[in-house]
Amino acid sequence: MAESASALFSTYARFPITLVKGEGTKLYDDTGKEYLDFMSGLAVTSLGHAPQAVKERLTAQLDELWHCSNLFSQPNQEKLAGLLTEHSSADAVFFCNSGAEANEAAIKLARRYHSKVLGTGKYQIITFQQSFHGRTLATLTATGQDKVKDGYAPLPEGFVHAPFNDAAALEGYITAETCAIMLEMIQAEGGVLEADPAFVQEIVRLCEKHGLLLIVDEVQTGMGRTGKLFAHQHYGIEPDIFTLAKALGSGFPIGAMLGKEKLKAAFTPGSHASTFGGTPIAAAAAIATVETMLAEKLPERAAELGDYLLGKLHESLDGNGYVLAIRGKGLIIGIECAGPVAGDIAAIHQQGLLVVSAGPNVIRLLPSLIITEDDIDRAVAIIAGVLAGRKPVGSGV
Ligand SMILES: *Cc1c(COP(=O)(O)O)cnc(C)c1O
Repeated sequence: MAESASALFSTYARFPITLVKGEGTKLYDDTGKEYLDFMSGLAVTSLGHAPQAVKERLTAQLDELWHCSNLFSQPNQEKLAGLLTEHSSADAVFFCNSGAEANEAAIKLARRYHSKVLGTGKYQIITFQQSFHGRTLATLTATGQDKVKDGYAPLPEGFVHAPFNDAAALEGYITAETCAIMLEMIQAEGGVLEADPAFVQEIVRLCEKHGLLLIVDEVQTGMGRTGKLFAHQHYGIEPDIFTLAKALGSGFPIGAMLGKEKLKAAFTPGSHASTFGGTPIAAAAAIATVETMLAEKLPERAAELGDYLLGKLHESLDGNGYVLAIRGKGLIIGIECAGPVAGDIAAIHQQGLLVVSAGPNVIRLLPSLIITEDDIDRAVAIIAGVLAGRKPVGSGV
């Protein structure tokens, strides 16, 4: 539809494709054309499209109760929180509707713990350059990218951006007002950049030394995508707080902020709330999602298929001078190219494979965790075919 004829704000640079149906790893547009989905609604549909177990649980819940105020007890939330805490180092959960809201809750909890429980009044949070934490005023301020802040001044106080993976520089960013350090274990929107284990160990050491809370944003990396249920589990660390959203409800909107026991005292009745957070239907979708991931060992599957995908990409692209790097963990993989990838992505879409960028020069692959080796072979052939025609910048061609 022409931009001028749309009654929507044009906040998205939309691809010229109208998707109308999804089934497993496939999507179909309004002309009936089939696409292999290596994007998953941006790391959301990790069980594939319309997964049966989630559909059954959702429809059963639709017959019972859709919404109930959080002023009443919430059995589905209790069950979901039990599942999440049983399989992580967290002891308590707050449910909301999105990644930004989960991070907003994490920021509020960190500040309130320092103000009400510790009584330090510390409020500053160190985040990292190229990070992405959401689009609310606080979370876009936490984000280490200028493009999301343009035109939104004045921004809330209390966020400092340190260079990512620079262990030596980090302590210099800690002030008398610092209350927490917040990071993604893999900077996803920032270009699929993994945190170095030594950098993460330094963060943990500094948090202990200076009494800071460690907050991990697992909105994109969580729920099995990297080969463990949560990406921080690769590092053997226990964050004070971590956040989830994208894949938690298989497409039904739900977010979660999870924290350690000591933080419970900071979130007292009335201190934070959400009308829709963890509504009976949202929690039902998430319970079925988590149970399916665990029963079908999908994090392990993501690790195996991620290795397979990385191997195939190296096989097909290593001789290509236009490809600068192939990186990632499990089923979040970035292909860094020597120039802007928007045109390549359009060409890949045209050949029936849906992928997305991560910054201007990186093609990002986020297939569902139920993808098969055949799907991967097909996807890699399409990507290699499109990139085969590209030449490195400055090659004179
Ligand atoms: C997508 C994302 C967010 C924001 O989530 P929304 O649901 O869009 O608010 C925050 N952090 C990370 C790492 C993300 O990938």
